[in-house]
Amino acid sequence: AVRYYDWIIHHGRRTPDKVAVIDLASERRFTYSQLDARVSRLASFLRHTLNVSRGDRVAVLALNTTDTLEVQFACGRLGAIFVPLNTRLTVPELQFITGDCAPKVMIHDTDLAETALAVAKLCGIATSLLLGPGGSYEAGIAGAKPLEAIEQVTLDDVSTIMYTSGTTGHPKGATITHGMTFWNCVNLGGPACIGPSSVLLTVLPLFHTGGLNCYTNPVLHAGGTVMIMRAFDPGTALGLINDPAQGINVFFGVPAIYQFMAQHPAFATTDLGRLIVGGVGGAPMPVPLLKVWEARGVALQQGYGMTETSPAVLVLDREDAARKAGSAGKPVLHTEVRIVRPDGSNADVGELGELWVKGPNITPGYWNRPEANKTSFTDGWLHTGDATRVDEEGFYYIVDRWKDMYISGGENVYPAEVENVLHQLAAVAEAAVIGISDPQWGEVGLAIVAVKSGQKLTEADVFAHCAAKLARFKCPRQIRFVDALPRNATGKIHKPTLRKEFSAASE
Ligand code: ATP
Ligand code: MG
Repeated sequence: AVRYYDWIIHHGRRTPDKVAVIDLASERRFTYSQLDARVSRLASFLRHTLNVSRGDRVAVLALNTTDTLEVQFACGRLGAIFVPLNTRLTVPELQFITGDCAPKVMIHDTDLAETALAVAKLCGIATSLLLGPGGSYEAGIAGAKPLEAIEQVTLDDVSTIMYTSGTTGHPKGATITHGMTFWNCVNLGGPACIGPSSVLLTVLPLFHTGGLNCYTNPVLHAGGTVMIMRAFDPGTALGLINDPAQGINVFFGVPAIYQFMAQHPAFATTDLGRLIVGGVGGAPMPVPLLKVWEARGVALQQGYGMTETSPAVLVLDREDAARKAGSAGKPVLHTEVRIVRPDGSNADVGELGELWVKGPNITPGYWNRPEANKTSFTDGWLHTGDATRVDEEGFYYIVDRWKDMYISGGENVYPAEVENVLHQLAAVAEAAVIGISDPQWGEVGLAIVAVKSGQKLTEADVFAHCAAKLARFKCPRQIRFVDALPRNATGKIHKPTLRKEFSAASE
């Protein structure tokens, strides 16, 4: 078995004075040797003072901070399991997760202290550490000696339990091995052009695979520099990208991030010329939004992945980004994919089927979920639940989740396709489509639309536009205007909330 290898130790020796991480909110920056020393002392503190040993879980509930990365690496050195927690969840939701994985220690920031302590009490987590100046986390690091020996773990050992976004139901804890994270760094390195000169601005939450692995871990693996924003703000992000002194050349966001940046007044004048990589994924990306960025000289590279695949499965190369706008690209290195019919046979080129994935970056299974582990895999192939097709040139298109598909008059409708058409209307800020029951057609589409501030859009405009662009059975039959769509912490539209709110709306 291949042993786990700590990249921070490696870069700490090879490029000790290079800046590894920048914590924008606290204005702290640590070189690789400084980061290595902090991780070493933190690991020693966790082991000797808090009695954390191999296999124990260590949870973190904090807005984005470089400290979270230190906990990840310290856990690696102890063979302990890092559990990053979603900061947007309520106490009962977090209680579900910490009840599921039973952490030994809860590390949290000041903002989330009340929630963290309530959860710790409910779940009997005896020890909690407070981040920030004067907190027990810094005191622990300051008072500890370097770790004398790192625990021998292999690439097959679990490093992290990462809960899925919970877009379709209760979050599931995907077990992430050291090997999965390592292979994701290898597989993404090429298509995302990541190397030692990468300077990444991370705006997505580190408690989800998008923030942690696109591309924070790959950039650290390559010995580049990672800048961490505490919480995403479009104006601040544009300001940082615009500033030559920051040298940001790598960026990743979910579609909502790019939408909010494009809507910001500074977008038109921001110098985007230094960006080598603008990665996007995590949810269907409207082609009109890709065009808005392309018009500003940035060919966004769409990718596809899941928490369970740590995450990269498909990535569109930079050279293909404009020509193949709308595709999520081709499989990354060391990753096999199939498009499968309901009967388990392979779909033809152009035919829609479910995407299945296999490779060393795929989870061995969910924590405490024997049932899901049985139904989610066939001979080592993970069933993604995503409706996908491939074209003659081998480019993949993620159409939508199978579960979000609805059937109108016997025809399958994939809401993402309709949403794409809605986004062609310049006044549309956000749009989602759900299927609602209908006595005549079985189900019909209901469009929920948020209009950009200061702009006007009528029901008739939307109906006319859809009628011109879509087959009749795909056209939404009802429209609701809202101020904003409900999103989860990853910025994904939360369709269960919409269904709850609007599915009784059919008259
Ligand atoms: P849960 O599994 O808890 O319902 P989730 O599936 O949203 O939540 P993640 O693992 O964060 O949790 O997201 C993976 C999913 O995101 C994929 O299965 C797919 O549906 C969607 N996705 C990822 N990339 C793309 C993309 N490029 N285009 C469309 N959808 C995407
Ligand atoms: Mg999922």
